[in-house]
Amino acid sequence: MKLKQLATLLSATAILAACSGSDEASTSANQESGDLPDMTVTDSELAGNPFLEEWDTPFGVPPFAEIEDSHFLPAFKKGVLELRAEIDAIVNNPEPPTFVNTILALEKAGSTVSQVRYTFYPLVGTELNDELRQLQQEIGPMWSRETDAITFNDELFKRVQAVYEQRESLDLGEQEARLLELTHRRFVRAGAGLTDDVKAEVADINSRLSVLTTQFAQNLLASTKAFTIELTDEADTAGLSEDFKASIWDDEKQAWVLGLNRSVYETFMTQSENRELRKRLFDGYTNRSNSGEYDNSPLLIEVAQLRAKRAELMGYASHAHYQLDVRMAKTPQGAEDFLLRVWEPGLAQAKQERADMQALIGDEFTFEGHDWWHYSEKLRAQRFNLDENQLKPYFELGAVTDGAFEMAKRLFNVTLEEIEVPVWNDVVTAYEIKDEEGEHLGVFMMDMFARDSKRGGAWMNSYRPTSNIEGERIRPIVTNNMNLSKPPEGSPALMRFSEVETLFHEFGHGLHGLLTQIDYPTFSGVDGPRDYTEFPAQILEHWTSQPLMLELYARHYETGEVIPTDLVERLLAAANHNQGFATTEYVAASLLDLRWHMLSSEEASKITDAKAFEEKILDEYGLIDEIEPRYRSQYFSHTFAGGYSAGYYAYLWSEILDADGFNAFLEAEDIFDPETAGRLKKWIYEAGGLREADELYREFRGKDPSIDPLLEGRGFATGS
Ligand SMILES: [Zn+2]
Repeated sequence: MKLKQLATLLSATAILAACSGSDEASTSANQESGDLPDMTVTDSELAGNPFLEEWDTPFGVPPFAEIEDSHFLPAFKKGVLELRAEIDAIVNNPEPPTFVNTILALEKAGSTVSQVRYTFYPLVGTELNDELRQLQQEIGPMWSRETDAITFNDELFKRVQAVYEQRESLDLGEQEARLLELTHRRFVRAGAGLTDDVKAEVADINSRLSVLTTQFAQNLLASTKAFTIELTDEADTAGLSEDFKASIWDDEKQAWVLGLNRSVYETFMTQSENRELRKRLFDGYTNRSNSGEYDNSPLLIEVAQLRAKRAELMGYASHAHYQLDVRMAKTPQGAEDFLLRVWEPGLAQAKQERADMQALIGDEFTFEGHDWWHYSEKLRAQRFNLDENQLKPYFELGAVTDGAFEMAKRLFNVTLEEIEVPVWNDVVTAYEIKDEEGEHLGVFMMDMFARDSKRGGAWMNSYRPTSNIEGERIRPIVTNNMNLSKPPEGSPALMRFSEVETLFHEFGHGLHGLLTQIDYPTFSGVDGPRDYTEFPAQILEHWTSQPLMLELYARHYETGEVIPTDLVERLLAAANHNQGFATTEYVAASLLDLRWHMLSSEEASKITDAKAFEEKILDEYGLIDEIEPRYRSQYFSHTFAGGYSAGYYAYLWSEILDADGFNAFLEAEDIFDPETAGRLKKWIYEAGGLREADELYREFRGKDPSIDPLLEGRGFATGS
C-alpha cells in the first residue's frame, strides 16, 4: 500500500520547523493562475523515481538511500500537476458544494507533492549541498505561486464559502467543524473574499514586499560580512579562552578575525580585557545596515507602510491588528500591556545591575553599553563560583535522552524503543513511540551532532504529518535536531546544562507532533498561533532541574554518582543573574516590532527617518542608554525579513503559559501528578489546533494563565 501523505496545502507554516517557522501572511509574489509555470514532465524523467513508488520500508520511513537529489524536481512537478487536476475536479464538480466534495476533497488534495516537500525540507536543514540549495531556490517560489493560485481561485472560494454558510445545519463532528472553520479562515485571511480590484492591489503589495524583505535580508548579510577586526598582536587577545581563540584564528591572514556572528560577538564582549576593542566591535554590531550602500532604513519604512496599507485593504486597523487577530494576545494593546508588565520590573532590575557593575569598576571610568557583558560575567563568577566544566560530566547525551524518555513515560504513559529504519545520516538514531496499550503512535528520530551540511541551532521537523481520513490512519515521523560537537570515537558526548534544556525543549515539540489525536493535517501538528506553539516545548524545560528528574538522569558518566546538590543549587541560583538586562533588551525589541506594525497607513506614510522613529519609541518607554534593544530596526530580520512581524513578543508570551502551566504540577506537589499530566496530554499534546489556543489552555489548567509565575521565574517581585 502506498501511504498517502496528506498535508495542509494552504498554510505557509505547514512544513517549516518548529522554532523557526514563518507566519507571514504571504511572502510570495501572487500571480494569476494563467501565469503558473509549466510543470510538464516526461515519463522518462520520472523513470525509477521513488516518489512514484510504494515505500516498502518499516513504518513508511522515506527510503533515504534510494532518493537522489535529482528525483525531487520531476516528482514535485508531477505532484503539482496532480494537485491542479484535483483542484479543477473540486471546482468543476456539478454537485452542489458539500463538506465532503469541497472541504475534505481540498484536505486530501496534493498527496504526492506533500510527500516530496515533507522529504525535501528536512533534508535541506541537515544535508544541504549546492544541488539542494539550487532546488530550494527553484521549488520555493513555484510552490508559493501554486498556493496563491489556490487561495485566489474565485470559484473554489465560492464553494468553500457556500459550505461555510451552511455550517450550523451540517451536523459536523467537532474536528470536521474545526477543519471547515480553519479552511475558510485561511482563504479569507489571504484575501479571497475581496473584490477583484482590491485583490489585485493586495497581490501587488505582496509582490513588492517579497522584493523588499529579500533585499533587507541580503543587505544585512552583506553589511554583517563587511565588518571585521583583525588582531595580530597577541596582547590584544587578553582574556580570550584558548578554544575561542582557536575558533577565530585565520591561517591565511595569520590573524585572529572578529566578525559579527552573534556567538563570536557575545563571547568576545564577555571575555576580552580590551575595552577599546570591545567598543569597536559593539559599534560595528549596532551600526549594521544603518547607512551607506547597505542601509535598510528606506526598505523597512516601505515595508511598514505596505503592511499597514494591506491590513487596511483587508479591513484591519493595522498590520499588528491583522496578525494578532488569530493569536492568543488577540490585540496589539493586549500584547503591549503584557510586555509592559514585564518591562517595568525588568528595567528596574537592569538599573540595579548597572549600579552593581559601576560599583565593581569603582571611579576608574563610567560604565557604558559596551561594558555590560564583560562586567556582568565578572560579577557572576564572583557571586556564584560556577564553572561549566564541573557540570558537564553529569550530562551525557545517552543518559539525558533516557531521562527525557523516562519523563515522557511518567507523564504521558508512552514508551520509546530504539528501532532499525532507513536514516539520512549514520549518526541518526530512531525510536518507535507507543501508548500504554502498545499501540503505535509514531517514529521519532534524533540527529544530534553538528556537521558542515547542517544549519545551526536546534529544531523539530516532520518527515510525515499525521492524518486519519476515511479509515486510513497514518502516524507521524518526527525528528529532533541539535548541533552538539561530535566527540572523538569512544568518548562520551557531554552536554552543557543549557543544551540539556534545549534537548528537553525540542523533545516537547516532538511530543506535540507525536501524541496528536487529530485526524486532519491542517491542525494535527505543531502549527498554531505564534504565541502558543512554544508552550508545549518550553514547559518540559522545567523538568530538567527538578531534583527527582536529576536523580534519574544527571549521573556522572564514569562513576554513576548523582550530581551533588550544592552544584545544582549554584547552577539554579546563577540562572537569574543578569536577568534585568536580558529581559530589557528582549522586551525593547518586542515593543519596537509591535509599534512599527501598529501604525495606520496614514501614520506610516509620514515616517521618513527610521532612526528618529525608533528613538522616540524607546524614549517613551524609558530605555536606558547602556542597553541596546536586542535588535535595532535596521537589523531586525525577524520582523522585517522573517515571519515574526508583530510577533517577536511571542517567545515571552509562551513563557507565561509554561511558567503558569508548570505551577500546576508544583501545586499538586508532584512533578508527575497523573491527573495534571493527563489534562496536559489531552488538551495540549493530543489536541493540535482543535480549538483556539486560549481555550485549550483553559481546559488544561482550569483557569486563565497568570503572569506571576513568569515574573517570579525571572527573579522579579510580583507585587500581588
Ligand atoms: Zn521551540
